[in-house]
Amino acid sequence: MYIISILQKRCLRELEEELEEELEDDVDPGLITQLIKERLSKFEDILPPQSATPLDPTKCHARVWADKTGAQCSHKIDKECLCGKHWNISHKKGYLEFNRYDEERPIINEKGNPIPWNDGIVSIDTIFRYQRMNLHKLLKQRKITPQ
Ligand SMILES: [Zn+2]
Repeated sequence: MYIISILQKRCLRELEEELEEELEDDVDPGLITQLIKERLSKFEDILPPQSATPLDPTKCHARVWADKTGAQCSHKIDKECLCGKHWNISHKKGYLEFNRYDEERPIINEKGNPIPWNDGIVSIDTIFRYQRMNLHKLLKQRKITPQ
């Protein structure tokens, strides 16, 4: 979760500066850093897990759009853990648009654009991951030509 590590680093730096001024020479700066880090490590919790609701094995295993939330399909299973509609799509295209619910939620669509899942701060994290992925792609494509 890149956004979280960025926020934690910034928070750590600001708190260190502030506390350093306030406490002056009374306290070991290493101890302050350690205490802040311990506290900040708990902030991972503000990002909800991608699939907050566990997979219901009795229902179709496909992930659906569901108003940008990416929920599990609510239809009953027809074949191979999928409902009729998703089984057809899966066999026609060879994949499911939003993967299976027990698989990772895709961050880009078929056209290579980011999927605007709506879940607050996680959406920002998705943008970060998408930009990072693009950067890696560009770095790979770059050809080094002799001058
Ligand atoms: Zn389905």
